[in-house]
Amino acid sequence: MTHRAPAGRPACIYAALLALIMLQSAAYPATPLEKRIKALTDKLTPELIDIRRDIHCNPELGLQETRTSGIVAGYFRKLGLEVRTGYAKTGVIGILKGGKPGPVVAMRADMDALPITEESDVPFASKVKAVVDGRETGVMHACGHDIHTTMLLGVASVLSAVKADVPGTVVFIAQPAEECCGGADMMIAEGAFKDVVPAAFFAYHVDDTLKAGRLGYASGFMSANVDGFSLEIRSTGCHGASPWSCVDPIVVGAEIVTALQVMVAREFSVHDNTVITVGSFHGGSAPNVIPPSARLEATVRNYGDGQRRVLKEKITRLVTNICEAAGAEFNLGYEFGTPSVYNDPALTARALATAERVLGSKSALVEQKPEMGGEDFSYFGKIAPAVMFNLGVVPPDREATAVHSPTFMADEAAIPIGVNLMANIILDHQAQASRTSKK
Ligand SMILES: [Zn+2]
Ligand SMILES: [Zn+2]
Repeated sequence: MTHRAPAGRPACIYAALLALIMLQSAAYPATPLEKRIKALTDKLTPELIDIRRDIHCNPELGLQETRTSGIVAGYFRKLGLEVRTGYAKTGVIGILKGGKPGPVVAMRADMDALPITEESDVPFASKVKAVVDGRETGVMHACGHDIHTTMLLGVASVLSAVKADVPGTVVFIAQPAEECCGGADMMIAEGAFKDVVPAAFFAYHVDDTLKAGRLGYASGFMSANVDGFSLEIRSTGCHGASPWSCVDPIVVGAEIVTALQVMVAREFSVHDNTVITVGSFHGGSAPNVIPPSARLEATVRNYGDGQRRVLKEKITRLVTNICEAAGAEFNLGYEFGTPSVYNDPALTARALATAERVLGSKSALVEQKPEMGGEDFSYFGKIAPAVMFNLGVVPPDREATAVHSPTFMADEAAIPIGVNLMANIILDHQAQASRTSKK
């Protein structure tokens, strides 16, 4: 039997539309569990929006997230999770024991805000102030960590409601101080995962380029190692009119700045993604005085443990040789900072299959290039395979505003999308992991 299309409209459009509707309704939510999760998320959404606005309105800087961490711990306790607090001062973990056997999995959210004065026009804009380095500043959730924390609570709530169907254990991590002080590393060092060791970690970061409903991903490296160095070049100092009387640390420093750029261009492949930026160069106090010292500070970005070791070696060699050639004394302090986030390709691929089903189409998934920024979620990836996804939050009626800007604005519609998706990602992962372990 065939349907006739009304005159003037091609039958194929109706057939295609019908197929699309049938495909979507048949594909998701299909199972009773998927339907329950969707319904629970929908019911929870108004409460989550309230929580998000409350956290947004009361932002706290890194290692000072006492109010936020109190909200998280209280919420976890009400859900009946086992709650552990005090890691890295304000870090909280909530442990949900599922009703079916299976491994341990974790979801992480960061809680800290930034020393930025909010300039958005929403009624729940932050008016909070703090003193940073002796100067008063506003405090703002300009990186979306209020959204991350809210989604963590949402996923904990939804999975608690279906815990009889959850395989294994789910650990919910509310982490302090992502922006400033390596809260992830501190939590791990303080033993947060000593007796409950996740076999996989999942996280979101809000994405300021994608609309709500879209999910950005990078399989493999996603963010860079955030390394750097400080260099002090020393001289005796002398009169600027007789520069041959001493080593000029400014000239030596300038030569090093230029030579570093040549090194990046000529000693590293264009595919190696290497950045060296000398962002600070101080020396001297008068035009006719060659100063006794000059100080340089640089950030060094790249991917992977091998590459960061090579960079340290080459930079040390270059600085040593230029200073020795000029007869300058120097002190070089090289530091390895936050490592690059590595999204485990197999874990990423499995979670993307869930995302395609839950978000309704492959076109909702956006492959992204790795960034040269840093993100301390990488420390969890040193414990077990991990993946961080970028969740679109650009409001439909506004231009995109960058994270870390005073006008950054996130679309709250992303919250239930993120909660529903992560609950499904965790359940799919746990189901598959427990099946694999039985084989
Ligand atoms: Zn940030
Ligand atoms: Zn962030």
